[in-house]
Amino acid sequence: MSSLSSSSSYDVIVGGAGPAGVAGAMAAARAGASVALIEPQNALGGVWTTGLLSLILDSGNKPGIMDEIRNRLRARSAVADHRDLYDAEAMKIVLDELCEEAGIDILLHSKISEAVVSDSLITEVILECKEGRRAISARCFVDCTGDGDLAARAGCGFDLGRDKDGLTQPLTLMALLAGVPEEIRQQNQKTTASCLPKQSFLEMLQASGFEPSYRHPSLFALPNGLCALMANHQYELSALNSADLTKATLQARREIHQTVDAMRRIPGDWRNVRLVSTAAHIGIREGRRIHGHYRITLDDVIQGTRHPDAIARCTYGIDVHSPNLKEGGAISNPDVKSLPYDIPLRALIARDRDNLLMAGRCISGDFDAHSSYRVTGNAVATGEAAGITAALAALRDLLPAQLPFKDVLEQLKTLRHHPS
Ligand SMILES: Cc1cc2nc3c(=O)[nH]c(=O)nc-3n(C[C@H](O)[C@H](O)[C@H](O)COP(=O)(O)OP(=O)(O)OC[C@H]3O[C@@H](n4cnc5c(N)ncnc54)[C@H](O)[C@@H]3O)c2cc1C
Repeated sequence: MSSLSSSSSYDVIVGGAGPAGVAGAMAAARAGASVALIEPQNALGGVWTTGLLSLILDSGNKPGIMDEIRNRLRARSAVADHRDLYDAEAMKIVLDELCEEAGIDILLHSKISEAVVSDSLITEVILECKEGRRAISARCFVDCTGDGDLAARAGCGFDLGRDKDGLTQPLTLMALLAGVPEEIRQQNQKTTASCLPKQSFLEMLQASGFEPSYRHPSLFALPNGLCALMANHQYELSALNSADLTKATLQARREIHQTVDAMRRIPGDWRNVRLVSTAAHIGIREGRRIHGHYRITLDDVIQGTRHPDAIARCTYGIDVHSPNLKEGGAISNPDVKSLPYDIPLRALIARDRDNLLMAGRCISGDFDAHSSYRVTGNAVATGEAAGITAALAALRDLLPAQLPFKDVLEQLKTLRHHPS
């Protein structure tokens, strides 16, 4: 069992253990670095597990750790054959096993609350642990907190929300349901993840006397016989503020109970629908976007920009959930066509602190581009690249921006073509 009792000094500290953080820590450890992985919740996986997400997007062209996770889930019959719809409990144990096998020092129930900076370098992070405050140091840091907490505490610049009004995409509390009629569960098609066309589900709820705050309510059939429900939008509340998070969570949980009551009133076999669980943490689509050496833009998504330092290709289109009900309460995409585009390593290297990288949804980009690259297949791919870069930089006593890109690429290819 890996835990953080032995050391308070590491080559690499990864803050946040969502899809990006798990991949970042695994990649750094496999590259030979000593790694600590810090997570406030009681499980690895972030939105995959404590968020009950249940569907992995943009993972088809992502070999390496993404494939390993899928294969481990498959061995447990915990992922669907046609789409990456998975069982969140199985995901928890798969990630525990993979991180323990990689020799990562895992610390759950602990949050990064401060960063100590000397000149342009982060030297330590301060953790809020059950036993009190604790400092741990590293040569290189990777911010995988989703919200960019580590970078912000270290004084890095960032963007938040839309340029025109600062609004962010809404928050959503996911839920697991039992008792959805089997013929509805079976309708999950190859091309669409939802059991029912979203408009049909909306009309069924409206006919039962209920108006969901997300006007594209979705039901996903999971391999464990349950369904995941995504039917609420909590608007104009900040993911960076505990009072707002509390309000969003309480509102959302109340709405989920109302949604399930409405589903039970749908004619047919719906009366047996039951709420099994709401997620331990409300899903956050958007937090800080930390300034990096490159900022991915809407124009990159439209043009399908390629880069010499590409570490992943994003194939998922723009996906902006309406930041408020006035804009329809469903999707508020700009009227553009997306092309597959590259994520360059420079978008993962912090502009304002020299030994900090980012991975996952807090990398450097604008509001619209973020809505595309934020999905979890890309979070894993950026985690791999950031983890490798952090490890090589720490082991060679270089800064991430000083590493020859070919060395990062070589290690990345090894990880992706010959998974351990
Ligand atoms: C409701 C919803 C539906 C979505 N639908 C899909 C979908 O169907 N498919 C898909 O692929 N993507 C989907 N997304 C997008 C996707 O979930 C995120 O963009 C993705 O989680 C990004 O991964 P991440 O690792 O960057 O962040 P997260 O999964 O948010 O992980 C961040 C981790 O950091 C931890 N953390 C936070 N603060 C600190 C701190 N101060 N110190 C230490 N740790 C900290 C958190 O506890 C968490 O575990 C959805 C998002 C939401 C909210």
